[in-house]
Amino acid sequence: MIRQAHVVRPHCFDDYFLNLLKNIYINRNISVEEATRWISSPPTNTYFRVNTLVTTPSDVVSSINEQLLKLKRVKCDEDKPLIKIHKDLDDCIVISPLKQSLLDCNPKNEEIIVDIVTGQSVLRGSHVFAPGVMGMTPDIKIDSTISVYADLAKKCKRGYQKHYDNPLKMYVGNGIMKMDRKQLFGGDMNPKGIAVEVTDSISGIPGFTLPATDGLLQNFPSIVASYALDLNGNDNLKVLDMCAAPGNKTSHIATLMKNQGCIDAVDKSKTKLKKIHKKCEEFGLENVRVHHFDSLILVDVNKRNSSTNKPPFQSESFDRVLLDAPCSNLGQRPLLKIETNENLVKSFHVLQRKLFGNAVELLKPGGILVYSTCTITPEENEQNVAWALEKFAQLELVAINPVAGAPGLPNFGLSDMNCELVQRFGPDNVENDSIGFFIAKFRKK
Ligand code: SAM
Repeated sequence: MIRQAHVVRPHCFDDYFLNLLKNIYINRNISVEEATRWISSPPTNTYFRVNTLVTTPSDVVSSINEQLLKLKRVKCDEDKPLIKIHKDLDDCIVISPLKQSLLDCNPKNEEIIVDIVTGQSVLRGSHVFAPGVMGMTPDIKIDSTISVYADLAKKCKRGYQKHYDNPLKMYVGNGIMKMDRKQLFGGDMNPKGIAVEVTDSISGIPGFTLPATDGLLQNFPSIVASYALDLNGNDNLKVLDMCAAPGNKTSHIATLMKNQGCIDAVDKSKTKLKKIHKKCEEFGLENVRVHHFDSLILVDVNKRNSSTNKPPFQSESFDRVLLDAPCSNLGQRPLLKIETNENLVKSFHVLQRKLFGNAVELLKPGGILVYSTCTITPEENEQNVAWALEKFAQLELVAINPVAGAPGLPNFGLSDMNCELVQRFGPDNVENDSIGFFIAKFRKK
C-alpha cells in the first residue's frame, strides 16, 4: 500500500500514458490507480540542499523552523512540520507537509485561474507569479483572500473576468492577492512578480524563503545523483557535466568538491547557461567552467583542439562524467495533465545513447560515469543500461552509495544482480518519496 500524504485530483492523462504506468508498475504490484495518484500528487516531503560552503545544515534547519513558527496557524511545536537533516545525506534537509487540520482549504468567493504549470508549482509550495495567471473574478482587491484554481482544460483565455465554469478546473489552494487586474492584464504582455502569496496549498507543503546563497530546493534523487559520483575526499578531480543547465547538479558537484579541482559544465542551450553562471556566483563557486556546446560533438575526434580548457575535449580526459540526460521528463510530480506524443517519447533513447557513447570516450580508465534521467520509461533507463553494458565491454555497473531508491525493473534486459545496482525512484519509495528518477553508476575498467 502506498502512503499518500495528500492526494490531488483530478488529472488528465491520455491512454498512452496510463498504459505506460500500468506496464511499468505491474512489476511492483502497484495498480494503475495507485500509480496515477502518485504521479498526480506532489512529493510528500520537500528537500532543500544546503550550500555547505557558506552555511551549515543545522543553521538552515533553525532558520526554516523560525519562519514556520511565525505562521499564525502554528500554535505549538507539535503543529510545526518536521524539519530534519536527511539520515544519509549530510547536506539535505527534509521538510514534511503541514497537518491538513491546520490548513484553510475552504474555497473563497473570489478566484483566480492559473495555467497548469503554475497550478503544479502551487502544489509544491510556490507562490503564484504573474505570467501564470489566466483569469480573475472582477471584484478582487489587493490584499484580499482568494482561491486559486488550475485550468486543466486549457480553455481559460488570458484576461478572463468572470467565475470560470469548467469541470476541469482544479482547486489548489488559497492566498492573498498582491496584484490588480491592471497590473496583470493592462497591456504589459510580460507581467512580472508575485501575483498571489499562497497561504494554504491543498498539499500542505509549506512555503519559506532563504537567501539564495544558502542553497536550493532540489528533488531528492537529484541530490543522490551527485553523491553517486564519489567526489568527497578526492582533491583536484577533473569532472565533466555533459548536460548541465540549469546547474543544480553542477553546483552540488562543485560544493561536494569543496571548490577544488575543476568541473566543465556543458549545455547546448545558451539561455539556460545563464542560470549556471548565476548559481555559481550566488554559491561562491570558483571551480566551474561553463561551456556553450553540443555534447553530441564533444569528443575531439580529429585531435585539432590544443586547448584542454575548452570543448571539444580529448578522449579519456575526465575522472568523473555526469550524463544527466535530456529525457521524456515523465517523472516530474505533480503531473496534472499529460498529452504524450508516443513518437517523441520513443525518440529520446536514441539521443541518450549517442551522448552516452561520448561520455564513455571522454572518461579516463578507472573513472566513474553516472547516468541519470528524470523519467520513468524503461527504454530510457534499464534498457539503456543493458545496451551500454553490451556495447562497452570496458564498463561495469557499480553500487551507488547511499542506497536510497528501489532496484531497477526486471524484464528489461538487466540481470537480477544489475537490477540491484541501479536505483529507480517511484511510488514504491515511500521513505524518500520524490519524483520519478533513475540513476546508474559505471566504472571504466
Ligand atoms: N543536470 C541539470 C541540472 O541538474 O540542473 C539538468 C539537465 S536537463 C535534464 C537536460 C539538459 O540537457 C537541458 O538543459 C538541455 O538543454 C541539455 N541538452 C540537451 N541536448 C544536449 C546536447 N546535445 N548537448 C548539450 N546539452 C544538451
